[in-house]
Amino acid sequence: WRERLFGGFKRTSDRLGESVSGIFGKAALDEQTLDELEEALYTTDLGPAMAARIRDRLAEGRFNRELTEEYLREILAEEIEKVLVPVAKPIEIEAFPRPQVILVIGVNGSGKTTTIAKLAHLFQEQDYGVMLAAGDTFRAAAIGQLKVWADRLGVPIVTGPEGGDAAGVVFDAVKQATAQGIDVLIVDTAGRLQNKTELMDELAKIRRVLGRLNPAAPHDVVLVLDATTGQNALSQIEIFRDVAHVTGLVMTKLDGTARGGVLVAAAEKFGLPIHAIGVGEKIDDLRPFEPAELARAIAG
Ligand code: GDP
Repeated sequence: WRERLFGGFKRTSDRLGESVSGIFGKAALDEQTLDELEEALYTTDLGPAMAARIRDRLAEGRFNRELTEEYLREILAEEIEKVLVPVAKPIEIEAFPRPQVILVIGVNGSGKTTTIAKLAHLFQEQDYGVMLAAGDTFRAAAIGQLKVWADRLGVPIVTGPEGGDAAGVVFDAVKQATAQGIDVLIVDTAGRLQNKTELMDELAKIRRVLGRLNPAAPHDVVLVLDATTGQNALSQIEIFRDVAHVTGLVMTKLDGTARGGVLVAAAEKFGLPIHAIGVGEKIDDLRPFEPAELARAIAG
């Protein structure tokens, strides 16, 4: 999968290379070249803070020497790793009393349902008992899709009628999970950003119901983001962080996008834990967040 990871990030690292290619072959690294480089890095999704820092590092060490692509990529990988290390944090199943309740939020199409299935699979592999709750009662398709995954994985699922009360589904699910000694309950939620008030009300209601059954729940609120949306993913973090008390992120579709740099920008701007990344559509395409390897894959 390591090869797949590097292959997946190839478009991101290629785009980086294209952005900065005009810089190389100049006689010496001077102020003007540094300006050009910083500007070029601005056009990638890595974020302005990273662009400025790379400039500073090059200005420190290499002034008046020729800048090679190899050296730039090396510096980039180092700086990216520094940003990623503090946010790398898998979801640990440690809640007592069980179940640990994981709310999963994100806009439709972000890869939320697939990520729930992948997480369920991951926890199954760790020998945890998993249950799903179809809290996105807004879309019949969402309930159906989650059910297909549950059946495929052989995990129990609690559903309610379309248009029904999401908090009611969650209430039933926690009751059943507790009775069955389930370790992890993963709750799908409706990702309606179009109507922020409704979304907030619904999430608040889910929280109230959860809190009544277990004051520590939800233990995790995981926001799923689609990397291909680039900077848009950053504004989604901002909005959801405020309305949903996000505790961590999963970024999907990092395979085959040129916008993988947004992962770094997100890490730097928000400092929220990043639990895992999605690098494909298959059930085992959720990968642990490994800073050193990721940094190398992004920097190319
Ligand atoms: P939801 O509407 O947020 O629940 O999104 P889905 O889970 O239904 O995913 C939307 C589409 O994105 C589906 O076709 C998934 O197979 C696809 N998808 C999800 N995660 C990934 C990923 O990491 N990589 C790729 N290439 N596709 C993904």
